[in-house]
Amino acid sequence: MPVAAERVPVTIYHGTSWRPEPKRLDRVRLALHFAIAADYGFASIDYELLAAWRDRGAALPQRPILFDFDHPMRSIHRVIWPLMAHHGYTGTLYVNTSWMEKVGDDRYMTWQEIRDLVAVGWRIGAHLHHHFNLAYLARLDHSGGLIREQMALNNRILLEQLGVVPVVFAYTGTTFSVVAEAEARRRYRFARLWITGASYETDRGTMRFADLAGVEGPDESDGGPPLAARYVTADTSPHRLPAMEPQGLIYEEAAFRRYLEGALSGG
Ligand SMILES: [Zn+2]
Repeated sequence: MPVAAERVPVTIYHGTSWRPEPKRLDRVRLALHFAIAADYGFASIDYELLAAWRDRGAALPQRPILFDFDHPMRSIHRVIWPLMAHHGYTGTLYVNTSWMEKVGDDRYMTWQEIRDLVAVGWRIGAHLHHHFNLAYLARLDHSGGLIREQMALNNRILLEQLGVVPVVFAYTGTTFSVVAEAEARRRYRFARLWITGASYETDRGTMRFADLAGVEGPDESDGGPPLAARYVTADTSPHRLPAMEPQGLIYEEAAFRRYLEGALSGG
């Protein structure tokens, strides 16, 4: 018997805040998030295990969580890695490879720093070479050729530099296109969206996230999609996986706790 359809929470960070902003994610806030997850007994998993669970009913930890990080920000290596390691956590780092060519910009990691993370169990995800808007690329080229080029170049550099072939792709920004999804389906086992509110920019115009995810019911009073759309389950469309922005709907400690608690109900 496969494991029952549990809810796997997914958070997506972009490193620590490096400029003043209203909902700052500093070391203290991040440490709090990981400590709360650890208090609830969550164990970090990767997308390989998620695939094994969905494909073959492989066992997940009792309380699985996915920690995603978009962009090769140096603070992930310098600040976040030690905070997570304290709890035995690892994450998935999505590398938009053109930023790795910005020599001398110390906001970004070096390839060696990324290799440090890989060496301790972090996984690498795909995020295009240039960080283009996918709805825009799809409008420019309906055949998907431009998106294909960006994915292929991204994959090739990740293989050359890190020796990895990513199993998961992160759509850039809150942009989605059916062309990008079709290309992602050819190359990646999963593709992941980014929840910052109730709506999403697509090549068919602005859509409700819930409609994109195929989840019924009204949006919630916090301004986000229905709760059921905020977790990965056994039934979630593999190329429309959700992930929560920690500077958005779950920034406040109580909201962050509620999000994790929402994965426990019934479990
Ligand atoms: Zn991005």
